[in-house]
Amino acid sequence: MSETLLIDEIIAKYQEYVNPGLTALMRFAGFSDVEVFAEGCILKTSSGEEYLDCLGGYGVFALGHRHPKVVEAVHRQLDEIPLSSRTFFNAPLAILAESLARITPGNLQYSFFSNSGTEAVEAAIKIARAASGKPNFICTTGGFHGKSMGSLSATGRDVFRKPFNPLVPGFMHVPFNDAAAVKEAIDENTAAVLVEPIQGEGGINLPSDSYLPELKRICEDTGVYLILDEVQTGMGRTGALFACEQWKVTPDIMTLAKALGGGVMPIGATIATKEIWDKAFGENPLVHTSTFGGNQLACSAALAAIRAIEEEGLLQNAKIQGKKLLEGLRQVQTRFPNALKEARGLGLMIGVEFEIEDVAELSINGMSRRGIIAAYTLNNPKVIRFEPPLILTAEQTEKIINVFGESVEEAINALGV
Ligand code: PLP
Repeated sequence: MSETLLIDEIIAKYQEYVNPGLTALMRFAGFSDVEVFAEGCILKTSSGEEYLDCLGGYGVFALGHRHPKVVEAVHRQLDEIPLSSRTFFNAPLAILAESLARITPGNLQYSFFSNSGTEAVEAAIKIARAASGKPNFICTTGGFHGKSMGSLSATGRDVFRKPFNPLVPGFMHVPFNDAAAVKEAIDENTAAVLVEPIQGEGGINLPSDSYLPELKRICEDTGVYLILDEVQTGMGRTGALFACEQWKVTPDIMTLAKALGGGVMPIGATIATKEIWDKAFGENPLVHTSTFGGNQLACSAALAAIRAIEEEGLLQNAKIQGKKLLEGLRQVQTRFPNALKEARGLGLMIGVEFEIEDVAELSINGMSRRGIIAAYTLNNPKVIRFEPPLILTAEQTEKIINVFGESVEEAINALGV
């Protein structure tokens, strides 16, 4: 079977058995190929093309693909005990929980482990309700917390919510970066304020410096929990291990997933203070559970990932390359002010907002033809996000900037805008 036939057959199976609409979307964006190998920042396809992965699995690949320390830890664990019997104590889970208590800010202490970001958010919602005895949550317009029923109720975009109504009751949305709106929305039935420190899928929206400290103060004053969803911003993405540290704010509950598994295993975590934990799980330790959550394979990957981030100076590299990338993208923006509205970001969590959606789509296509994978944010198709691995080199940063400039220019010329 020739490589081309193989690619066509795989795409036909997507069309026939997976999701025809998604197949069309992927084709239009220029991703008509099959991924077969990945290492570091590079992804290879069946047709022999090489791509610099600038999307990074929506933030999963902080350590790049197949980081050797994570792969080694997972191999070792695979040969011992990969999944828990769920009867005896599990060493990687215990050590990971201790590590998270050590590296997360404030007095976050107890961890519940799951397998994805949406599950981490579901757990946070349930823990906050059980601990507070109150039903309601204040979230933000454009915020993204996942697509299962509870987390979707917190997600602030109608296009994802509408087909599934009625959602879980008790979720109210206020504009992001508006602490006064949160204050006004809080009442005696509010359990928690649930926000991302930087909106990822909403379009890489940064808060003002006062936003998170103000939310913290409002939550403290009103006895409402602050839940920070660090599923995308966590594990070094912004140049700090957790984005909330950039504003010296400590949540009562934090959610993690994506990069936590070192780009090798899926894992989610919900970390809360002892006070909250005792209230939520005090009467019944089995009130919230997951069969696969906290399995040894995933926990050993997360432990190796934490070690690698600490040992390899990746926070510093995220800051340095992030600054260079943002500066370069801003220069491109000034060349095409009619097409590009703004480049913004922190560390290696960067977005470029376009004036016209079609130019963004065509630019993504142009970048993929030039060997760079990028994508728009789920809740805002006018924003192309750049979330490359934190191991990115200076040469790779340079390449991203150049390719982006060429692709935007090509898209503008093609569309005549
Ligand atoms: N929370 C945030 C901030 C996210 O960005 C995402 C996914 O993009 C999620 C939750 C949901 O994660 P998952 O897709 O692993 O369920």
